[in-house]
Amino acid sequence: MQTQFSGSVITQVDQIIQAAIEAGASDIHLEPFEKKYRLRFRIDGVLQEITELQLSQKDAVTSRLKIMAELDIAEKRRPQDGRIKIRAKQGQDIDLRVSTLPTQYGEKVVLRILDKGTLELSLESLGFSNDELSAFRSEIHKPYGMILVTGPTGSGKTTTLYSALNEINSEQVNITTIEDPIEYNLEGINQTQVHEEIDLSFVNILRSILRQDPNIIMVGEIRDKETAEIAIRAALTGHLVFSTLHTNDASSAVSRLVEMGMEPFLVSSSVRMVIAQRLVRKICQNCKISYTPVSSMIKDLELEEGFTFYKGKGCEKCNGTGYKGRTALIELLMIDDGIADKISKNADYSDIKAKGISSGMKTLHEMGIEKMTKGLTTIEEVYRETSL
Ligand SMILES: [Zn+2]
Repeated sequence: MQTQFSGSVITQVDQIIQAAIEAGASDIHLEPFEKKYRLRFRIDGVLQEITELQLSQKDAVTSRLKIMAELDIAEKRRPQDGRIKIRAKQGQDIDLRVSTLPTQYGEKVVLRILDKGTLELSLESLGFSNDELSAFRSEIHKPYGMILVTGPTGSGKTTTLYSALNEINSEQVNITTIEDPIEYNLEGINQTQVHEEIDLSFVNILRSILRQDPNIIMVGEIRDKETAEIAIRAALTGHLVFSTLHTNDASSAVSRLVEMGMEPFLVSSSVRMVIAQRLVRKICQNCKISYTPVSSMIKDLELEEGFTFYKGKGCEKCNGTGYKGRTALIELLMIDDGIADKISKNADYSDIKAKGISSGMKTLHEMGIEKMTKGLTTIEEVYRETSL
């Protein structure tokens, strides 16, 4: 990765954006402080300092980015948002979402890179095990019911949903999405952006979509009872509905819908599958070594002795981090008759989880341990993402 930038400000800004694209970064942060002007990239979900730029150039760099994003260069006291469209060296079109924020020592600029070309929309690349992948595939090809994906922001829910839609997309079906924001354009799929300020909410768009002869609907997020109600009704009347919730694991997604005020029997008869997911960083294959981690961590994760642990030592290919790329940990809860029965009897969360485990569900934690013992990720990543 290029970490030194020179030439005119225009050239330097181009070089920075190009370097971020080549490094596979999702965000670029340009941060003025009292004595330095820091450049950081977010790579595989974690911020990394790339270099310090010339402090004297901060205003020129900010102005250049504002011009590219068609923002007001004279306005320095208020935050602004814009977009830049560029063509990268490799030829792909890239959208950058630009946001400025006045801070104590000048405006901080963050650029989110939306690279439609590199988003690999295949279910194989997500990190499912073979068994889970075939279960997931079989459910998304059914014509009705609800499939939920749950996890915190940044856990890869959108990529999983997009990959599912991409797989079932064909000219025979009408697929419509409601999103806030639309992150990537999907060919052949009708994507609608929420605009709360003109009353174009999830629920209002959903009502309109149901008059548009839909087969498959993706509701970006279920945030309230009204949206949940209409989405469930759609799933029960011959539509396949995908959506997301913010819960920690698969079992609690079901309880969340009931807490929102849904009738338990409606939840049990509409929801067919819940996936909880997290992203963990993969060990860099170029500098991978085996080692022994601190014993307290082994104890906390309730591991037995005798594992071989791996980590990345850090090399030029991984920018010294020891990690390259990410993989998903997936917890897949199938709503079979036994679990549907529990839900409709309003069983509590732990009951549903226990029943899921007895029917073969592997928890996020177990999936993490599995990937760790295969040498795909580290004990630290599993600990960070799955210890509650
Ligand atoms: Zn490495």
